[in-house]
Amino acid sequence: EEGTEKHEFQAETGRLMDIIVHSLYSNREIFIRELISNAADASDKLRMVKLSDEGSLEDDLDIRIAWNDEEKTISVTDRGIGMTKDDLVTNLGTIARSGTSSFLEKFKDAKDESSLIGQFGVGFYSSFLVGNRVTVTSKHEDDSQYAWSSAADGVFTIEETEKADEAERGTTVTLHLRDDALEFLDFNRLKELIRKYSAYIDFPIYLEEHKSEEVEVDVENEPTTEDKEASEDEEEEVPEDEEEDAPSADSDEEQATDKDESEDDDEINVEEDDYVDEEEHDPTKKWETRKYSEWQHVNDQKALWRRDPSEINKDEYDEFYDSIKKSTESKAISYAHFKAEGEVDFKALLFIPDRPSYDSYDVNEAAVKENIRLYVRKVLLKGYFHEGLLPRYLGFVAGVVDSDDLPINISRETLQENKALELIRKKLVRKVLELFKNLLKESDAEIAEKKESEDTEAKEEAEEVETEAEETAAESEEKETVSDDESETESKDDKKDETQYIKFWKQYGVSVKLGCVEDRVNQKRLINLMRFKTSETDVKDENDWASLDDYVSRMKEGQEYIYFLTGTSLESVMSSPFLERLKDKGYEVLYLYDSIDEYWTQQYTDHEGIKLMSLSKDSFAFNAQDEKIAKKQMEEARIGIKPLSERIKSVLGNKVERVKLSNRLRSVPMMISAERTGFTANMELIARAQSF
Ligand code: ADP
Ligand code: MG
Repeated sequence: EEGTEKHEFQAETGRLMDIIVHSLYSNREIFIRELISNAADASDKLRMVKLSDEGSLEDDLDIRIAWNDEEKTISVTDRGIGMTKDDLVTNLGTIARSGTSSFLEKFKDAKDESSLIGQFGVGFYSSFLVGNRVTVTSKHEDDSQYAWSSAADGVFTIEETEKADEAERGTTVTLHLRDDALEFLDFNRLKELIRKYSAYIDFPIYLEEHKSEEVEVDVENEPTTEDKEASEDEEEEVPEDEEEDAPSADSDEEQATDKDESEDDDEINVEEDDYVDEEEHDPTKKWETRKYSEWQHVNDQKALWRRDPSEINKDEYDEFYDSIKKSTESKAISYAHFKAEGEVDFKALLFIPDRPSYDSYDVNEAAVKENIRLYVRKVLLKGYFHEGLLPRYLGFVAGVVDSDDLPINISRETLQENKALELIRKKLVRKVLELFKNLLKESDAEIAEKKESEDTEAKEEAEEVETEAEETAAESEEKETVSDDESETESKDDKKDETQYIKFWKQYGVSVKLGCVEDRVNQKRLINLMRFKTSETDVKDENDWASLDDYVSRMKEGQEYIYFLTGTSLESVMSSPFLERLKDKGYEVLYLYDSIDEYWTQQYTDHEGIKLMSLSKDSFAFNAQDEKIAKKQMEEARIGIKPLSERIKSVLGNKVERVKLSNRLRSVPMMISAERTGFTANMELIARAQSF
């Protein structure tokens, strides 16, 4: 054909295309990701050029994906920088210009093919995974419009084309699908793939959706044959943006179909109900199926983490959380959005879900590790690392981490020993703990504020009561109802008023305690996040909890230890006879009733130089002085009680280690306690349950 130039691909390119088509077959759906990435790259390039030109850039950069059942084509159109004729020859005619052979070697050894495509700049050739002919029509500002075309048979052609549309620049890649790839001619399939791979592309991606509707038309005003032809031409193209909502009006060339008897025509004949039947075959009207297309915006999720936090409102964060969460009911308690700079740069957006996903603590569950998704330049790295970005005790945290410092195509092994990744992990943990701390601060401030307003309210109320006492009987009746209402709302509010931190603590306190055992580096930070019910807190008040620092600040004169008591529930701990002695002294006791408490208290034995003391351990003591006096008294008493204790031991046999006199009891005559080095009774239960 005149004006059509024929070129041969570089030898290696030809070979490579062959390899791609055959070895990537199972992963062929990635063609859409590659074409969209290229379209986005081209749009980015234009944006950069225009910005440096100080020229104004219309806001029309988007990516449109159209498809045609009859022609068996899929096309991806961008309004980006476009390609000149030379660009088409060099960019699409050669691959990996340098070191082609070594590239081919690497390619053959590759395990994960899909990742390689981007790495070696062969993304475009994935078109041939599904297309047996690919045509690229492109227009660059500096050149006319050209069409590049190839059937992957070793040659490609280039010819100048007429302007197909108004576009001054941009590229359309059209794939003529192979017969075994027709599955992609489906709106939902394409939508699913776009959202899977390209959800966070910066430019809007529109996907063509084919629709049809029944319309009633006047026979007299039927379009002429000329009209039909004109509209047929236009049908080839997808309607422009402005027509997004309105179905295109000029595509009524379809054959008329008889009105379906069962068609719900209520709306049309609302006022003419009585003679609907007679009117059904109105000779001046007929029904037609009209086909039209609509553009659907399919990448509504934004790469929010890449934007400036000061420009993002809470709704946007909530929306984003909705797009990544695993449980439909889940909401985010709090979030952190930050940029880390220094040895390694990354951006992160992290959320604390109000409930852990079902798999949050399953160490072997790969899904947990995917609670934090790792992106490299907005492209999802999936299944590459099995360590996870956060330690298991933080497995419930969800979010996104994005770093440009990580190579996008990296094998699992190398990623695991990647230094940048190690640094990201470390910083991420710090940031997550900071997020918890901030939540705690906010909640503490909230409680303080609430207390203040409650105090003034109480004062006002007291004053009110005084004045009301002087009022008439009728009025006081009214007052009664008012106060009833008040007490009702108060009790309802109790639950609602639970601060975000307490919500967090109830849900994830066990995780923080686990961290205290497993993450020695951050142990102190984790300890400061712990909140306890104690003998000095109001167990009914959702917001009344104590930290270890609170405990220390309330310690009595002469008190040497931080006392705690472990058990299986708050109730059982609170009713323990071990508490009695402490109550007399007015010493505060930490109530610990999570299994994990037995573990962290064995590791964290000393807070700010003050030892932690378990009430249920044999080694229990008030202080060194006490101990001495008690010892003396005890020695004397022990002699007197010896016959009894020996008798008991002989009855119980080896059900007990030994029977001895204790100074820890008041109203209870006897108790079972644990040895200093042994397990507490509670730990015994846990150990038995876990059978170790
Ligand atoms: P990569 O994107 O990794 O560079 P590809 O094989 O995907 O490799 O694309 C090869 C080259 O073709 C690109 O680098 C770019 O120069 C050019 N190209 C591909 N698609 C487009 C497009 N839609 N607009 C402009 N240039 C494109
Ligand atoms: Mg590419």
